[in-house]
Amino acid sequence: MTTVLSITPPAEAVQGPTNYQLLIDGRFVPSQSGRILERKSPGHGVVVSRYAEAGPADVETAVTAAHRAFETGPWPRMKVAERSAILLRTADLIAARQEEIARLDALESGKPIAQARSEIAGAIDIWRYAAALARTLHGESYANLGDSMLGVVVREPVGVVAIITPWNFPFLIVSQKLPFALAASCTAVVKPSEMTSASTLVLGSILLEAGLPAGVVNIVVGTGEAVGAPLVSHPLVEMVSFTGSTRVGKLTMARASETLKKLSMELGGKNGQIVFPDADLAAAADAAVFGGFFNAGECCNAGSRLIVHEAIADSFLAEIRGLTRKVTVGDPLDENTKVGAIISGDHLAKVMGYVEQAGTDGADVLEGGAALASSAGDYLSPTIVSGVRPDMSIARDEVFGPVLSVLTFKGEEEALHIANNTVYGLSAGVWSANIDTCMSIARGVRTGTVWVNTFMDGYPELPFGGYKQSGVGRELGKRAVEDYTEEKTIQFHRGPRTGWWVG
Ligand code: NAD
Repeated sequence: MTTVLSITPPAEAVQGPTNYQLLIDGRFVPSQSGRILERKSPGHGVVVSRYAEAGPADVETAVTAAHRAFETGPWPRMKVAERSAILLRTADLIAARQEEIARLDALESGKPIAQARSEIAGAIDIWRYAAALARTLHGESYANLGDSMLGVVVREPVGVVAIITPWNFPFLIVSQKLPFALAASCTAVVKPSEMTSASTLVLGSILLEAGLPAGVVNIVVGTGEAVGAPLVSHPLVEMVSFTGSTRVGKLTMARASETLKKLSMELGGKNGQIVFPDADLAAAADAAVFGGFFNAGECCNAGSRLIVHEAIADSFLAEIRGLTRKVTVGDPLDENTKVGAIISGDHLAKVMGYVEQAGTDGADVLEGGAALASSAGDYLSPTIVSGVRPDMSIARDEVFGPVLSVLTFKGEEEALHIANNTVYGLSAGVWSANIDTCMSIARGVRTGTVWVNTFMDGYPELPFGGYKQSGVGRELGKRAVEDYTEEKTIQFHRGPRTGWWVG
């Protein structure tokens, strides 16, 4: 008998969707086109948000406001102590509205509510970290250039920053960018994913309440083509901080090159978790399942390739199959849910296409592999595919669903070869009790992050970003504010000038 997931309609199904406007120059306003964009909760199939939908004309107004705020407004001119205080107040106000923001992210993205809450907690921590970091920003001085010269290198804000974010961690990712841009005294135009814009707009109202001057942060909701593209092309935008797919990242880089903008790109991943026989296998199995299915696998850091030593492959596979069957899939608003809904029906079909293709290519679908029958919404059971070869599309492409591909290896060299055999280079994990093995893998993988006997932890103190086609630049860490600055070299001369050029 097929089990049908029973999904309870959210309160929004009765109350009706929430209406949102654009944030431009310190006020919430309708879009110039008058168009409305609706978002359904993918877990419930109910419209939960109605947005004023921006287009190129709104981008123009938003960038003009951000530029004016940068050129003549108080934000870049105030003392850092005041700027930092506004960032700290923002963190407190986010904390006061944590539950509301978590619910918006759970409804619009389909992620479990308990997980959404911890993402907002992580975001609050980042805002506080950025507030502290703001006060450490400084330049350099050179007093060793001779008696008549003093060289000073100052850090100045880069200017107007375009911030473009994806749907999978709506509030967390804007919080990995915006507080650092603000700490550097920049102004910004933010374009959240058109599927998950609500929590970013709530952040906009929080920033105003915290005392951010008008025009410093503007938020435009709309599609990539109608809003993202003109934002990236705009001559008054000096920097683009983009998180999203490698495909759109490449388009964005090409477009930004026309006006030679500074770029920060956080893109896709195809991350390997390597398990050696001497590891704590119970911990590794739990992490493998977490890495594969956390956020329904819709995660740049998903450990979507499990690379396991052939000597333990059968028993390890049996262990993770048992754990996978215990993963609770269901209503994102249910406190016990571990895997919520898939972002859209189209995306579900794409993920299923990869699983079907793997079957055709000779891999075995051991668990899941089918859309779940449910009274509403789009759900997929956690899926394990074994017998995967490195040349299969399921081993190479970013599937971005709850699908764990299992590959085996005989020795360290082969494990490294498999892990590195991808255009991506975001992250990797290694599990072994042997420090030499851990060190060899950690040094040998070409990724921006390596987890050793753990998986997918994150701290604001630690930089994050990708090698290869997973990105350009780093976010977080002690240099996160510097990224939003330019260096200016000032040379002070005193006394009579020597070495005249003409006479
Ligand atoms: P996406 O690339 O489709 O969209 C990302 C953002 O770009 C959205 O706001 C979208 O509207 C906008 N966009 C689309 N077309 C555009 C265009 N032509 N010009 C400018 N902007 C445009 O990505 P997605 O589906 O929203 O998110 C999933 C992807 O994001 C995955 O590939 C995932 O790995 C990646 N991601 C990376 C990280 C990281 O830190 N490396 C974190 C989260 C997600």
